[in-house]
Amino acid sequence: MKKFSEYYLATDELSEMGMPDKRIIFSTRTSSSILIDENIYQHAINEEFHKIDENIYKTLLEKEFVIDKELDEYNSIMYINKEAREKTNFLGMTIQPSANCQLGCHYCGQTHTKDYASNDLIQKYYDRTKYLLENNQSYNGLAVTWYGGEPLMGYSSIKKTSKKLIELCKEKGFSYVADIITNGLSLKPKLFEDLVKECKITHYQITIDGTAESHDKRRITKSGEPTFDIIMRNIVDIVNTEIYKEYDCNISIRVNIDKTNYQFVEPLIDCVISNNLQGKVSMYFATIVDFGGNDAGKDSLSKDFFAQKEIDWLFKCYENNIDVGAILPKRSYSVCMVENKDSEVWDAFGNIYACWEFPYSETYEKGDSLIGNLFEPVDTYNQNATLRNWSEVVDSGEVWCKTCKHLPVCGGGCPKSWHEGTPACPPFKSNYKEKLLLDYYIRQKRKEIAEA
Ligand code: SF4
Ligand code: SF4
Repeated sequence: MKKFSEYYLATDELSEMGMPDKRIIFSTRTSSSILIDENIYQHAINEEFHKIDENIYKTLLEKEFVIDKELDEYNSIMYINKEAREKTNFLGMTIQPSANCQLGCHYCGQTHTKDYASNDLIQKYYDRTKYLLENNQSYNGLAVTWYGGEPLMGYSSIKKTSKKLIELCKEKGFSYVADIITNGLSLKPKLFEDLVKECKITHYQITIDGTAESHDKRRITKSGEPTFDIIMRNIVDIVNTEIYKEYDCNISIRVNIDKTNYQFVEPLIDCVISNNLQGKVSMYFATIVDFGGNDAGKDSLSKDFFAQKEIDWLFKCYENNIDVGAILPKRSYSVCMVENKDSEVWDAFGNIYACWEFPYSETYEKGDSLIGNLFEPVDTYNQNATLRNWSEVVDSGEVWCKTCKHLPVCGGGCPKSWHEGTPACPPFKSNYKEKLLLDYYIRQKRKEIAEA
């Protein structure tokens, strides 16, 4: 016996879009979408499967729109996620080797000091990585994310640590990949070349909060100096280097958006185009939220408004050949690093956390959110640190996710956000109908080009 899955989303009937008696349905179980006739859709949701054409029914089964009647969907999703996490073959670590940053952004929840990872601590980073890699037979690779403070202010620590970890992976025959979240201020081509060649860092996330007019009111240095022109110049110089292409590097421009700068997102896209960065960088649009009670989210746009604007920005990027990644979310087996018990964040003092927003933050740097310190014995580590119990939080029904159709592709958004009392639903929850259409439109266009 079969039933129609609970984990699906659907557009409205598409007459207004020139596709009468059609709609797009999306299985969040498999992250697949199909265009379907209205009458078949009605038969499917009413479980009149005998009225559906055999081939279409086969597709509905394959994409898991139709599933076994007795399947407990929520529990099976949680079980599959747990298994996938246990079998993951990459150990993902986040290292924050610098407690310092040149910038003084109003929405940042960190307290910066001039501290960097010492040689003794770098040895501890190495020892702990080796221990974790050897403690789980599933691993055959290491993925390091460099984060801060501004990580490039601790470049010497990045270089020394990378050398040791790359060597460790080489000895074991493991893969090694690395990415960095940087403000981009000191990212000159020479430094970029060293980071790529010596530290194997190929993916760079750089935040630009609109054009100079808005960026320079927010992402200013601690002494109040503007940074837009310098960062943009660095990006332009880097994407035009030989090694950017040769090593398949990517710069992702993140735009943090609220009521005070959403008007500057379109001009920023224009600026990306006028600097001939299309086809070379990708873009990502994010909302600004509170950080441990710092009130950074006081100027947040409403979720619906942001979601509608996001569609306009994504479309503009698509039309201008700026990569925005996949329009539809992929199946997610862990919400983020907090659900992978081996994935840790290490700061410049050796503190260990589960979430990369915890170090250097007054709200989270001590107490239950601290797992331990790399200079202390392993048996002193807190196994129940804040956010590590995310699956249980979902199970308890304390957050909305247990009964949400988006769960298989969302995983719960950001556990820290829920922990602070803010629902973490991503824009997709508000704009999935438009995104299903946009994704369909883009796929059709690509098909037409391929067939021309
Ligand atoms: S809990 Fe939120 S902020 Fe922390 S690592 Fe996960 S997604 Fe990022
Ligand atoms: S965060 Fe929101 S959209 Fe995501 S699973 Fe939870 S309730 Fe659903």
